[in-house]
Amino acid sequence: MPTAVVEVAPRKRSKARKAKLLPPEPAREVPGPGERPARLPYLLDLYPAESAAQTRLAPFFEGLREGRFLSTHCRKDGRVLWPPRIVCPVCHTSDLTWVDLPQTGRIYAFSAILAGAPSGLEEELPRVVGLVELDGSPLRIFGRIVGVEWPECRIGMRVRVEPFSLPDGRAYYAFRVVR
Ligand SMILES: [Zn+2]
Repeated sequence: MPTAVVEVAPRKRSKARKAKLLPPEPAREVPGPGERPARLPYLLDLYPAESAAQTRLAPFFEGLREGRFLSTHCRKDGRVLWPPRIVCPVCHTSDLTWVDLPQTGRIYAFSAILAGAPSGLEEELPRVVGLVELDGSPLRIFGRIVGVEWPECRIGMRVRVEPFSLPDGRAYYAFRVVR
């Protein structure tokens, strides 16, 4: 079957940009074959914005930098929510407070990702992800599981929250298997 060739017309400049109401678009750095882009796009990244100016969930990320694992607690119905929220999804109040979650737990379920990594994460395969049941809490939290090769990973293994910094200064967490 012959391969169809589709020509894509160059994108037209918007009227606002033409009228100089908007600054010119920055030049895009296009990496060569086999090169990684200098800065990865936030494609598929659910948490690109961490500062207080950008999100009311900033205390969660600030907490990670201080070695804390925080989430929100609804003052009205007493639920501890995960992920952190700015409004309770059950009673819709915004009367929430930040609370420390337990930082230890056990693997409730896991899976190994062996192929199909998003752009820029090809070198991080295989990787293990899973649900962790926190000690003394009804919460089961999804995250990357580190410190174990995937064939050795088992349900029930003990883990601990491990905050880490990304090269651009953002913070996130993984679960490290405790031996
Ligand atoms: Zn509530």
